[in-house]
Amino acid sequence: MLILVINAGSSSLKFQLLDSENGDVKAKGLCERIGIDGSMTYQGSGDKVRSQKDMPTHREAIKYVLEELTSEKHGVIASMSEIGAVGHRVVHGGEQFAQSALITPEVKDAIRDCIPLAPLHNPANIMGIEACEEVMSNTPMVAVFDTAFHQTMPARAYMYALPYEYYKDYAVRRYGFHGTSHRFVSLEAAKFLGKPVEELKIVSCHLGNGSSITAIDGGKSIDTSMGMTPLAGVPMGTRCGDIDPAIIKYLLETDPELTIRKLDHVMNKQSGVLGVSGVSSDFRDLTEAYEQGNKRAELALDMFSYNVRKYIGAYATAMAGIDVIIFTAGVGENDSKVRHHVCKGLGYLGITIDPEQNSKRGELVEITTPDSKVKVLVVPTNEELMIAKEAAMVL
Ligand code: AMP
Repeated sequence: MLILVINAGSSSLKFQLLDSENGDVKAKGLCERIGIDGSMTYQGSGDKVRSQKDMPTHREAIKYVLEELTSEKHGVIASMSEIGAVGHRVVHGGEQFAQSALITPEVKDAIRDCIPLAPLHNPANIMGIEACEEVMSNTPMVAVFDTAFHQTMPARAYMYALPYEYYKDYAVRRYGFHGTSHRFVSLEAAKFLGKPVEELKIVSCHLGNGSSITAIDGGKSIDTSMGMTPLAGVPMGTRCGDIDPAIIKYLLETDPELTIRKLDHVMNKQSGVLGVSGVSSDFRDLTEAYEQGNKRAELALDMFSYNVRKYIGAYATAMAGIDVIIFTAGVGENDSKVRHHVCKGLGYLGITIDPEQNSKRGELVEITTPDSKVKVLVVPTNEELMIAKEAAMVL
């Protein structure tokens, strides 16, 4: 079935038209600067094309996407009716959604109810859904949630040790993110190893600009490093990850220039490996700076690998064992040095990395030696394909 996968941001809309069975990508692209001036990148049957378009809202963006998909020049389908469903990435599904859901007025209300938990993302996701509803009113839509995969976590993993009322009254708990990616790579890893995912204890490391680590026991998420928001866990490109919560009060009382809004911005946009190194949030820049002798870049890289390693150890304990470690996303798939540093202290778990295998990039590959007790795999993630598969399955 052909599925149009939509990932709507506040001023952008990423799209991909793909076959949910074989993953064949027919067309893909990005609408940007929606509500400002509007531009579109589209790759269909020919070369990539970039054009300026008038896009006051997401509705016009979707209209242009459909025009391109069916156009004579770059089109890949004869008419919109060939699209079996639209799969929408939705960031936060709260506790309401442990699975993907066919979009109905009630499901939209529930997504709106989660806006306080994801104020930047869920309103944009709703805009994307409503734009599609207006332009393709006869096509079924499915919401696929970043949080859904983690709804299997036991209470001991998702509760914070705050007064219980904060959980009951304000929904304060760990939700976890990148669920679509963690689920996809765990299923791919099981397929690659020729074992049912139900028999595997996996630690999945999604390391990109945002990073999260998940313990997947028998195919189910039992703990994950991101929390109520995607700010928690390991240090990221620009996000601080886990810090002592008392630091916030201390800084607000110590620095007269700081407000809670500024500090929130600092923790989300100016921290992580960028904040520590002062160089960049991009691991390629950091490695270059480190190789030129930059000590803070070295420290940032060291902190990153150390924290990922610490989570792997913690999750091996949480699952009482570990069979597989997966590296995925921009850094996990491409940066062999980070993989090397993360794994270098893990010999005690029975992990032996094969340097030649580890030098490979961007393909599904086992990077441990054949006698390594724990398998370490690089698995390219494909959230769009997972969303397409989910949409087809829900239908
Ligand atoms: P993602 O958020 O998954 O798109 O990952 C983006 C991050 O991946 C970038 O910020 C880079 O730090 C990292 N990245 C991408 N390609 C490479 C590469 N070839 N080597 C090292 N890091 C890379």
